[in-house]
Amino acid sequence: MNNFDVIVAAAGESRRFNADKLTKKLPSGLTVLESAVLPFTRFENVATIYLVVAPERTEEFQKLFDGFDGRLKIVAGGKNRTESVKAALALCSSKYVLVHDGARPYVSPKVITDVMCAVEETGTGVPAVPLSDSLARCDGKPVDRSIVRAVQTPQGFLTEKLKSAYSHGRIATDDAALYHLEYGNVTLTEGDPKNVKITYPSDVPTFRAGTGYDVHRLEEGRKLVLCGVEIPFEKGLLGHSDADAPLHALMDAVLSAAGLPDIGHFFPADDEKYEGADSAKLLLEVLRTVYEKGLRLVNASIAIIAEKPKLAPYVDEMKDKVAEIAHIDPLQIGISVTTNEKVGDIGDGEAIAAVATVLLSDAN
Ligand code: MG
Repeated sequence: MNNFDVIVAAAGESRRFNADKLTKKLPSGLTVLESAVLPFTRFENVATIYLVVAPERTEEFQKLFDGFDGRLKIVAGGKNRTESVKAALALCSSKYVLVHDGARPYVSPKVITDVMCAVEETGTGVPAVPLSDSLARCDGKPVDRSIVRAVQTPQGFLTEKLKSAYSHGRIATDDAALYHLEYGNVTLTEGDPKNVKITYPSDVPTFRAGTGYDVHRLEEGRKLVLCGVEIPFEKGLLGHSDADAPLHALMDAVLSAAGLPDIGHFFPADDEKYEGADSAKLLLEVLRTVYEKGLRLVNASIAIIAEKPKLAPYVDEMKDKVAEIAHIDPLQIGISVTTNEKVGDIGDGEAIAAVATVLLSDAN
């Protein structure tokens, strides 16, 4: 039975976000708002989804949701959240209504189901989670966190009762608080810590991938250093620095992911300062540079192409070394070694090449 209407409140101004959080894309490729609406379309008992947006943006959201779900209707909101929900509520005719924040894109089907069941059984259903931070009042007096909960959405009610609660011109931060003013306590259901409300830019992680490549010629009388590990061999890689090709590829991948120029720009080959330089130190400098841009390395994957020597015995040591330089778990570093099947200069054992792929994120 289609006995639920859903109101998604999305008419806010994103004041704390400095940008439009509703149309910000999540790593899934969907916007925050699409992600907040989508879970409700999976419920057959939902009759209509009223998406309340700022009046001047109705056309924009009509376009964004064109062909999304036949049950979705765009509604022009009011000057604050209360006015906006009230505008959509006037259109609701199903027995029950759920009100959800457009900025909560991670709501799970279980949270929605639990709320629906509670509404059908008790008349209300409001998801809530225990707090992990300790609490204090503004005057510094501690508050016992075991007796409070953080309240989320969707919040479910009997439609007629919520309409009545809204009819007195009262203002509250959410529907449960407004409902409480007229009817008393609501039924709390199990919320989900992942069901966060996007408030700050850092609430939406950004991921950036990058690729780097390097090749150096092998010469006698040089040390062979790969991923910061000295490998016993009769030849070493020729270059201005220690010529650590995989670390150079890795640095270029990191810089590329951050949209920065390559290592030639940061460490010019004609600068005496970098004569015989330890590439591990240069990598640290590169990671610091991207860190200052708010990005950190999530994982790296490096392929080393060498005919000789056999590198497989050194893979674990190389992984540990890169992880140590980057201050990340060795499990986040992948290193594969392969030959060039005797093709070309690399196949003749005259050079070693490396390709690196990385993922950077601005998440903490
Ligand atoms: Mg190089």
